[in-house]
Amino acid sequence: MALDQESLEILARALEKLDAGFARLPDFASGVPGGARMEKVMLELAEKLQDNYPYFHPLYAGQMLKPAHPVARLAYSLAMYINPNNHALDGGRATSALEKEAVAEIAAMFGWKEFLGHLCSGGTMANLEALWVAGQLHPEKKIVASDQAHYTHGRISGVLQLPFERVQTDLRGRMDVNALAECVARGDVGTVVATLGTTATGSVDPLSEILELREKFGFRVHADAAYGGYFALTSNLGENAAKSFARIDEADSIVIDPHKHGLQPYGCGCVIFRDTRVGKLYKHDSPYTYFSSAELHLGEISLECSRPGAAAAALWATQKLLPLVRGGEFAGGLERGRAAALQFFRAIESNERFAAAFEPELDILVFVPNGDSIEKVSAESRRIFEATARKGLHLAVAQLPVKFWAGLKPESGRATVTCLRSVLMKPEHVEWVGRIVEILKDAAPG
Ligand SMILES: *Cc1c(COP(=O)(O)O)cnc(C)c1O
Repeated sequence: MALDQESLEILARALEKLDAGFARLPDFASGVPGGARMEKVMLELAEKLQDNYPYFHPLYAGQMLKPAHPVARLAYSLAMYINPNNHALDGGRATSALEKEAVAEIAAMFGWKEFLGHLCSGGTMANLEALWVAGQLHPEKKIVASDQAHYTHGRISGVLQLPFERVQTDLRGRMDVNALAECVARGDVGTVVATLGTTATGSVDPLSEILELREKFGFRVHADAAYGGYFALTSNLGENAAKSFARIDEADSIVIDPHKHGLQPYGCGCVIFRDTRVGKLYKHDSPYTYFSSAELHLGEISLECSRPGAAAAALWATQKLLPLVRGGEFAGGLERGRAAALQFFRAIESNERFAAAFEPELDILVFVPNGDSIEKVSAESRRIFEATARKGLHLAVAQLPVKFWAGLKPESGRATVTCLRSVLMKPEHVEWVGRIVEILKDAAPG
């Protein structure tokens, strides 16, 4: 059995307990339409859902997809029997409290005791909010991010009608500090986005140097740690990444995606601000909500209105089970994924058929099959991607700058190469690297 069913018993017992809390209600006939046909529809759905890559299996090592922890799934399901809305306390009293607690634990992981923040639908929305605040504080000034930053920043800046500029990256996909220094010296930069774990290669921008430039030029620093944030808890990072995460508490705002590395189902991003006074920027007059209590309604500090209380319940339960502490079980899982990526890197490095771009900073490895032109290398990457998939190993392909490979010569008109990309996010990956390498060798006979 690949998919867990045992935990459903725990859900049944928890549901009984929840139900007991409402035992005093007068009986009512619930008008659920279609009840008799439900099973048929569900079985049809189960068949349709078989049309997916096996994201939960260690041989799925392609995109950023990680199974939610069973406790998150159960907690989400349990809360759905109530279906609370964390927009206002009237709609989700218990889950609003759980959200405040869970977000405070995330802030504490970054060293913040005082902060303002909340959950949202994902990294895109979280970054939108951070850049919206940035734009309110520095109207008309530029947002700057590296050319490996998530494409969402350029698009969000467009939505917010803020000027946006890309700064080039170095040979390891990190923001080039000299290029940034030149850019900010022009005096029109309001906010620099430092990506702590780029989506393509897991590269970590040199936050320490960026913060030093802030001293001189006074821009805001937003840390986009949507992917990499939880690595702040790990103890097997390289020097640059460790140094950057060590100073993340000095950023003005931080985004992290619990639905990437935080074992949550999709629909869980998080944004936090260091200065609680940004709360006043959200001020609005809702005629519908906020009359019930003088306590903070999360909808007062969020751009989104309705938000799932179930997502907060899931995150809270997961962090209760696996606290966000260095040396804990949760941190250990991330360390194993990172160890897997380093092992995979060494295996690729010692194989003459492949070339890795650079040593991974987190748990993402990008590499190419060797070949004598960019066109051939790209075509071979695509062929291997398909060949390994037929053998049950799912990698991903990505289009990345040729400059990431010392051994690839730039050719006129070709700045990028199609490469293979592997995200080793699951702790189990560390036991599967050998198998992954075997399948890869089979698919690319020398
Ligand atoms: C995934 C990601 C985003 C976008 O987040 P979504 O949750 O997909 O909306 C933004 N920035 C980085 C660095 C990411 O990895």
